[in-house]
Amino acid sequence: MPDLLKTLHDNPATGWLARALGLPDPVELARVDGPYGALPLDGKRALLAGAGGYGAGALAAALTAAGAAIDQGKGAVDIVVFDGTACRTPGDCRALYDTFHAARIATNGRVLIVAAPPVLAQDPVAAATARGIEGFSRSLGKELGRKGITVNLAYVAPDAVDRLDGVVRFFCGRQATYVSGQAIDVTATVVMQSTTQALPALAGKVALVTGAARGIGMATAARLVQEGATVVCLDVPAASQALHETCRTLGATALVLDIAAADAPARLCDFLRERFGGVDIVVHNAGITRDRSLAKMPATDWDLVLAVNFGAIAGVDEALLATGLLRDGGRVVCLSSISGVAGNFGQANYATSKAALIGYVAARAPALASRGIAINAVAPGFIETPMTERMPFMPRELGRRLNSLKQGGQPRDAAELIAFLCTPGSGGITGNTIRVCGQALVGA
Ligand code: NAD
Repeated sequence: MPDLLKTLHDNPATGWLARALGLPDPVELARVDGPYGALPLDGKRALLAGAGGYGAGALAAALTAAGAAIDQGKGAVDIVVFDGTACRTPGDCRALYDTFHAARIATNGRVLIVAAPPVLAQDPVAAATARGIEGFSRSLGKELGRKGITVNLAYVAPDAVDRLDGVVRFFCGRQATYVSGQAIDVTATVVMQSTTQALPALAGKVALVTGAARGIGMATAARLVQEGATVVCLDVPAASQALHETCRTLGATALVLDIAAADAPARLCDFLRERFGGVDIVVHNAGITRDRSLAKMPATDWDLVLAVNFGAIAGVDEALLATGLLRDGGRVVCLSSISGVAGNFGQANYATSKAALIGYVAARAPALASRGIAINAVAPGFIETPMTERMPFMPRELGRRLNSLKQGGQPRDAAELIAFLCTPGSGGITGNTIRVCGQALVGA
């Protein structure tokens, strides 16, 4: 469906009014619909800036390996990568100003800033400088969002620079369309066999996506199929028809199951053992809302939301780990929400469940790392799906516009981030929660 504000701005009869009222004019976001391929940054001009840090060599190698041309000349570039790992004093921050004050970045461009983790700094001023870079990158994202440019920051430990390959491929690529203003931690804690991405990225992997009959789950299943995975799509009996239709289209396997049922973990484990012998990727996407202010909320709505959005996930993971069905080198992704980051009126139940998942992935990650398993959460902002379609007009329009890109995301934007976190190349990232929200003001 065309964007209402874009239509108003582009029509000569109404464009003047839209401008006079100061209505946002959202830029058309560039998207790709396909697998990463060997050279996802092919044809892109990249500026690599920052000097003397430990990240520069790995960043140059990652950009080149992904097909980008590193270009220190004048003119607009598609990508700016800044190595801030040498920034330790307030004076060092000047390099950020010098680089980005002068940089000309094309519409739908990408900025990736790399910094040393503040917790590893030798002194408080160096730690504060590293933290200051986060404020810079979030501000830059807010300024450049009107051109569809996304800006993200990776805190990279010195022993994890060899994990930057996947980070560069995703955050400098088209797949990061709706991911902006994020600060992620890249570490070497997850054991990795190889840091080189084989293609197709998920060949030979078995993936489970819950709530996959529609929306973000369906888009995720489609992306995982594109990357070569064998995908099991799970959804409730009431969505059985849509689920089978999705599976027919994607060439995926359907599993009709209410994930919150008491026997769901056992039935799921039996299914995965008998059909596939195990599972490599689990995307806990199924989720529901039952919005009411707390004073008016029936206890049944509290219980149901906590059971589906949180209890079921913990139950399934415990069963998959206890039975050994989740294989070494696996990936687990939980769908949180910016409501879980910031809280939301009328969503005390939902925000509790989604915030719990932020804590859950952080708490689960350390014990899984030695088996090469990474677990992360993805927190969508406003994504155009049947869930957000049901919102009343005003909150819907506010949710859609109050972000740096001035528009809602598409299910595939969330699917891109989820799919990246399912690939072997994301092995530097675990215990993180990454928002896919166009840098929403809520929860920013
Ligand atoms: P959606 O309502 O369009 O789809 C959710 C799917 O989950 C449906 O197919 C539904 O049948 C299934 N489901 C619900 N309960 C289930 C259960 N007990 N067992 C199995 N399947 C079940 O939702 P969406 O917008 O695609 O959201 C997907 C996830 O992303 C959810 O966890 C949601 O909370 C989260 N999220 C979405 C948004 C957004 O803007 N759409 C924002 C933040 C978070």
